[in-house]
Amino acid sequence: MLLALVALAAACRTAEPPRTEAAADTIPALPAGQFVPEYGPATPLFANFREGLIAHRLLDTTATRLNRWLVLPEKITLATAHCDEPNAKYEPSSRTVTLCYELFRALSERFATKTGGEYLVAGTLMFAMMHELGHALIDVLRLPTTGREEDAVDQLATLLLLRQGAAGDSLAFGAVGWFVTNAQTNRFDEIALADDHGLDQQRVYNIICWIYGRDPSRYPEVLRDGLLPEHRADRCPAEYQRLTDSWGRLLAPHERAPLQ
Ligand SMILES: [Zn+2]
Repeated sequence: MLLALVALAAACRTAEPPRTEAAADTIPALPAGQFVPEYGPATPLFANFREGLIAHRLLDTTATRLNRWLVLPEKITLATAHCDEPNAKYEPSSRTVTLCYELFRALSERFATKTGGEYLVAGTLMFAMMHELGHALIDVLRLPTTGREEDAVDQLATLLLLRQGAAGDSLAFGAVGWFVTNAQTNRFDEIALADDHGLDQQRVYNIICWIYGRDPSRYPEVLRDGLLPEHRADRCPAEYQRLTDSWGRLLAPHERAPLQ
């Protein structure tokens, strides 16, 4: 499945490889809450990752785009920092979304030298950041959720990636690749069943379903190559529409302007 996903990620590649925009412009002073980028200190072993992120303006570009889109009652920090594990997280007490330097290193080691690996690295990073952003928005905007919050923010992360054009599709397929490799290496046991996240393999099928559901004619390979069982694929357009409508209604009162 991983090879098929990388092929799909590359197939929807535009002339430009996935990258952050060169956001030279900054937005004017904003009231009260806004998204604020913060590149935390890194140990010498991780210094090159930090410098690369600053050079690519990863957090700045994301914060600028989000500030143009949403009005916040309080500041949300988008940060890179050291953690105990290769992960990403949202900390409600400081209202901080953190991408861990250890995640950058793990992704680099796992994918960077592989064909199509840039999509898996960039897609996973962006998915992780948008997933944690979802937790932050539910917290700060007091958004209602029913069912598992982890599923809801996976939905938002996928929708936000898909709003970035053809490169966004590549990123979304790249993120699926991360969960595919996790499913191959992580142990499946009672602890996994009790987790508040879906199983890695369930997250694989969910995200593929939402990519496919937006426009089934766009990626017939999803069915042809067996990336999704037909009985699930049939339901994906309605599933995609429902989650788009739901997140749209939740966030509409907080929009400054349409998301670009
Ligand atoms: Zn989460």
